[in-house]
Amino acid sequence: MIASTTSQPWAELDQPRRRLTPPVRVGRVTIGSGYPIAVQSMTNTDTADPVATAEQVVALARAGSELVRVTVNTEEAARAVPEMVRRVRDQGVEVPIVGDFHYNGHRLLTRYPACAQALDKYRINPGNVGTKHRDENFAQIIRVALEFEKPIRIGVNWGSLDQQLLTTLMEDNARREQPWSARAVTLEAMVQSALRSARLAEELGLPHDRIILSAKVSAAPDLVAVYRRLAELCDYPLHLGLTEAGMGMPGIVASAAALAPLLLEGIGDTIRVSITPAPDGDRTEEVKVAQQILQVLGLRAFSPQVTSCPGCGRTTNTFFQEMAQEIQAYLQEQLPQWRERYPGVEELKVAVMGCVVNGPGESRHADIGISLPGTFEEPKAPVYVDGRLRTTLQGDDLVAQFIEILNEYVAERFGSQARAGRR
Ligand code: SF4
Repeated sequence: MIASTTSQPWAELDQPRRRLTPPVRVGRVTIGSGYPIAVQSMTNTDTADPVATAEQVVALARAGSELVRVTVNTEEAARAVPEMVRRVRDQGVEVPIVGDFHYNGHRLLTRYPACAQALDKYRINPGNVGTKHRDENFAQIIRVALEFEKPIRIGVNWGSLDQQLLTTLMEDNARREQPWSARAVTLEAMVQSALRSARLAEELGLPHDRIILSAKVSAAPDLVAVYRRLAELCDYPLHLGLTEAGMGMPGIVASAAALAPLLLEGIGDTIRVSITPAPDGDRTEEVKVAQQILQVLGLRAFSPQVTSCPGCGRTTNTFFQEMAQEIQAYLQEQLPQWRERYPGVEELKVAVMGCVVNGPGESRHADIGISLPGTFEEPKAPVYVDGRLRTTLQGDDLVAQFIEILNEYVAERFGSQARAGRR
C-alpha cells in the first residue's frame, strides 16, 4: 500500500523550524532562536596559568569558537581569570568567556569579584553545588549574577546528577501503577533538575532572558530524548552537547548522530562537540567538527564545501581523489583572504566527481563542478558553472585549469562588483 500524503509534504524544507526562545545576551553574542546557532568550546589548560589559557582561548576563537568556557575550580584559577581575559582582549579577541563552576563556585565568585566581573557567563551544575546547603549555595551564585548583570547556564550532567532529586523521583516512581524504567526516571530527573534550578533563579530575581539550560548525557538516543522533553517544557535557549563523546572518529560520529535530529527539529541554540583530543592533539578540532555539523545540516555556512563521489570500479586510478584533496586544500588555504575580499564565499559549493555517470548531474547541483573522465571514457572533463556547462577541460594540468575557473567564479560571484550589482 502507498499511503496518501499531506497537502504540504515538503513545507519544512523551505521553512526550517526553530524552537522559539527569548534572546540571551552573553558578552557580545546573543543566544536564542532569533540568532545563529553558536559554536562553543572549552579550554583544557590550567586556568591558574593565565598565559597558557589566554593563548588557547585565542586559538579556539580564531578557529571559530563563538563562546569559550574555562574551568574555574580553585582560588588560583579565580585570581588568574581577570589577567587571562585581559590578555585575550589585548589580542583583539572579543569572544565571550564563560566560567565553569562546580562545588565551590559560590565561594569563588563571592571572594573574587574581579573574576565574576571579567567573565561573561557562569555555568552552574545543580548536581555540584553541595548537598546540605545546595539551595543557599545556588542562591549565592545567582546573587553574584544579579550584581554583575551576567547570564547563567544551568548545566545538568548525567554523571553528576542531583542525587536528592533523583532519589525522590525514584521513590515517586515506585508508587506508580506502571513504573517507568530507571533510565526514564533518570532522564526525567535531569530535566526536573534543570527546570527547578531555573525556577529558583527566577524567584531570586534573575530575569527569564538571562538563563540558558543544558542536560548532557553520553548516549545519543538519551540525548535526543532528554532535549525533546526539555524543549517541550520550557522556552529557555538550550545548549546541546553529547558529554564524553570519546576520541577521534567514534566521538565525531556520536556527536553528529546525537545533535543532528535535534538541530533538524529546531532544538538547540548553541552546540559543543566534546571530543577527547589525542595527548598532543589540536584542541580546535572540536570547533571544526561543530561547524561542519551545522554546515552539513544547512543551518550555517563556515567554509566552502567540496562534494566528491566515493569512487568505484569506473575510476581505476587515484587522480580524482587527489584532485578532490587538492581542491579542498586550495579552498582552505584561500579561505582567510577570501573571507575578507569575498563576503558570503563560505556558501560556495564545489563538486569533484570521478566520472560522467553522476558527475554532470552532481556538478550541476553545485555552484561549480568538474567530472573527470572515468575508465574507458574520453579524456575530457566537463566543468559546470551555476548548472550550465561552461567548458570542457583536457590535458595534464586539469587541477590548475579548474582552479583558474574557480578563482574567476569566486571573484565574479562574491567580489565587490557582484555585490554592487546586487545592491
Ligand atoms: S560518479 Fe562515477 S566514479 Fe564516482 S562513484 Fe559514481 S559512477 Fe563511480
